[in-house]
Amino acid sequence: MHPRLCSPAKRARRPFTALTVVALLTAAGGQSALAAAALPPAGIAAQLRDKAMSGQHVAYSWVSELTTRFGPRPAGSASERQAAAWAVARLQALGFENARLEPFPLTAWVRGTERAEIVAPSPQPLAVVALGESPATPPEGLEGEVVMFPTLDDLIAAPHGSLGGKIAMVERRMIRTQDGAGYGPVVAARRDGPSEAAQRGAIAFLLRSVGTDSHRMPHAGTTKYVDGRVPLPAFALSAPDSDQIERLAALGQTVRVRLFSTASYVQGASSQNVAAEIRGRERPQEVVLLGAHLDSWDLGTGAIDDAAGTAIITAAAKLIRDLPQRPKRTVRVVLFGSEEVAQPATPFGAFGGHAYASSHKAELATHVLTGESDFGADRIYQLVLPKAVAESDFARTVARVLTPIGVLPAHGPIEDAGTDVGPSVEAGVPAFLLRQDGTRYFDLHHTADDTLDKIDRQQLDQNVAAWAALAWLAADSDVEFRGGARER
Ligand code: ZN
Ligand code: ZN
Repeated sequence: MHPRLCSPAKRARRPFTALTVVALLTAAGGQSALAAAALPPAGIAAQLRDKAMSGQHVAYSWVSELTTRFGPRPAGSASERQAAAWAVARLQALGFENARLEPFPLTAWVRGTERAEIVAPSPQPLAVVALGESPATPPEGLEGEVVMFPTLDDLIAAPHGSLGGKIAMVERRMIRTQDGAGYGPVVAARRDGPSEAAQRGAIAFLLRSVGTDSHRMPHAGTTKYVDGRVPLPAFALSAPDSDQIERLAALGQTVRVRLFSTASYVQGASSQNVAAEIRGRERPQEVVLLGAHLDSWDLGTGAIDDAAGTAIITAAAKLIRDLPQRPKRTVRVVLFGSEEVAQPATPFGAFGGHAYASSHKAELATHVLTGESDFGADRIYQLVLPKAVAESDFARTVARVLTPIGVLPAHGPIEDAGTDVGPSVEAGVPAFLLRQDGTRYFDLHHTADDTLDKIDRQQLDQNVAAWAALAWLAADSDVEFRGGARER
């Protein structure tokens, strides 16, 4: 199904030869044949890169243990909490400093039993999942005629009151692209569809899954609160089930569907961010913030979304931790909680990114740079640095280290640095992007198929290599990423 996957047992190590550095650091932490201080930073970054490319890092063991021990980690669940406690202990054991939990409150959503079927013109089962935050149906379920809309805009164009007693369905397909650009236009229907359908009198909302696969594997995902709640029971159909309803409708048939869900809410739940550091040797108050999220959807084990990201940034920082000398600035790893239900407008309060930006508000002025890994574990192909340094010596040094592993510099504004670091970026923290190949990401994203076996270890290595090299170069520099003066 995924020809690029390689099983761990068959995995062939391909030593990275383009820029082999003779004196690799030992895995045990600290002794090097060459004194690190004698090397220019680019040399140390190349060492970190090559060590990661040869698989000498903790990313795979981290992602394997996290997804195996805790399985799915829904926002606000006991599983998410236990995974966070495990992460703190593991980070301490790896030698990070100040490893801690930073809790915050939220209302948790819990999937119940759910099912759907076509009742007319001919009974047949449908593969669906309730969308996150969506309310239960009445105990007897809901039944209604499906009204199809090609896009969310078409639904919005329908007159208010025109869908009385009916089930609104948006059937727009997601387009597969390397950079994930197909996601934005389609996910708007998941976010806003239930409230727009409710305003027009609908009793429920159906969505063609936001995904690029053709399996009977619906994709979960959150939807938007309006006035403190999601107004309608809302479900994602798998792509083939959406096709089936579309074909029936194209035959001129009136399609009636029955829906059932016992989803519920837990008031007074809590989530938590996990933070840990390598304290800087010269200016510890200056922070390079690396982010990823620990929570996941409940259908799979959240391996690519986003246990992989937590593994990549942790492994990269651990490589830096094991250098003979700390970087000048602090490298802080934050494993955010409750990313998947991120709703800035919700009165139910926080998610991890907001919780971090508000509780660390006073410190954000000395956060020098941030980035987030939340797009699976496939290879990084592009680097975008903050505009202020895009043409600098720093950018040229980074390019020299990353080009040999297939990461090319790109220009252009960073429109979305990521959900978790987003609130910090909005508060002025400069962001970078290490853009990953998302060609197959949305085949798996938020489905039951998001499991450990989908992670390609060689591509995981390359992610760790790029993150370690870039984080080191930024943390050991004097570069002012907000623009202005200092640059080594
Ligand atoms: Zn994610
Ligand atoms: Zn996600």
